[in-house]
Amino acid sequence: MLRLPKFRYLQPDSIGAAIRMMADNGPDAMFVAGGTDLYPNMKRRQQTPKVVIGLAQINDLRTTKGQPKDGLVLGANLTLSEVTGDSRIRHAYPAVARAAELISTPLLRNMGSIGGNLLLDTRCNYYDQNYEWRKAIHFCMKKDGDICWVAPSSPRCWAVQSSDCAPVMVAIGAKVKLVSSSGERMIPAAELYNDDGIRHLNKRPDELLTEIHLPAVNGWRATYWKLRRRGSFDFPVLGVAVSLKLSKDKTVEDSKIILGGVGSYPIEAATAEKIIAGKKLTEEIIREAAQAAYQPAKPLDNTDFAMTWRKEMARYYVAGTLRELAKL
Ligand SMILES: Cc1cc2nc3c(=O)[nH]c(=O)nc-3n(C[C@H](O)[C@H](O)[C@H](O)COP(=O)(O)OP(=O)(O)OC[C@H]3O[C@@H](n4cnc5c(N)ncnc54)[C@H](O)[C@@H]3O)c2cc1C
Ligand code: SF4
Repeated sequence: MLRLPKFRYLQPDSIGAAIRMMADNGPDAMFVAGGTDLYPNMKRRQQTPKVVIGLAQINDLRTTKGQPKDGLVLGANLTLSEVTGDSRIRHAYPAVARAAELISTPLLRNMGSIGGNLLLDTRCNYYDQNYEWRKAIHFCMKKDGDICWVAPSSPRCWAVQSSDCAPVMVAIGAKVKLVSSSGERMIPAAELYNDDGIRHLNKRPDELLTEIHLPAVNGWRATYWKLRRRGSFDFPVLGVAVSLKLSKDKTVEDSKIILGGVGSYPIEAATAEKIIAGKKLTEEIIREAAQAAYQPAKPLDNTDFAMTWRKEMARYYVAGTLRELAKL
């Protein structure tokens, strides 16, 4: 049985107290929400904070404010079950509800938070192993080692962005609020992620994610398709989030096509977006866009399934999402 290492647990009851505790404890501390990512990582010694700051008692992180016509503000510590159970989210942001309800199992969705999901550690078959396993291969660059076993001549880590909600938040243009003892900032969800398996978040460790701002719906429609081995359980090995604004005659006025699970960050398929801009979504245009969207998908041999098949599936999933939104 894998055991947690020793650590000190602090339990603030306000955002102010949480960021003060973080400032006092410095790089030895980490926040924890549901713990469904952090605690398994601590058991495997992938993440080794000496101090863990629990967010469960902070009511201000657990609220939903606003209405879809103006935008909704989700507290970062809402559980995934609370997100999927909220009728405003189900009706106005079905892609968000869908991504959240495709995550893992009901038990984990009752514990796991939407904020923790957006900040999920990147994943790799050579990294998501216990300490002894990783030690036996002399570790890897992401933790304790100096080589990448997936691409040994590579100077960087290619661990995979594996959050289901991240590509959706990027596609719909959500924003996130980050708060620390040095102030607060609001950034687009797209700017939260870096193309780097180690420094995958554009967020300082002392910054607390407090809110996720979903934009006013305003004629946009979005969907999310997830590829995984076991339909009831697994992480995505490909996630396609598409958001479209169609005119009355169904011409594409604007779009975002985002690929998750096939790189270290949610990848925008910009060429595909250009192909559909100003056009009606016919089978021919969809095929052309899907072909272009598959190009930036860069899966490597570090998660489930053959990487060439995962790349190929990006084409089918993009076509499927576009057909669904165009009601073809
Ligand atoms: C068996 C299993 C299957 C899973 N399947 C999936 C899946 O299919 N799809 C998927 O996307 N995920 C999956 N997960 C991962 C995880 O359960 C979810 O992503 C969950 O939403 C994480 O939320 P959490 O609150 O438990 O995060 P935590 O474990 O509490 O935190 C995750 C990270 O975010 C940081 N953090 C959390 N909240 C904040 C905050 N407010 N401010 C700053 N930092 C914060 C923590 O320090 C930590 O680094 C799975 C996990 C397991 C164990
Ligand atoms: S991609 Fe390479 S460096 Fe990154 S976790 Fe995997 S083996 Fe380690």
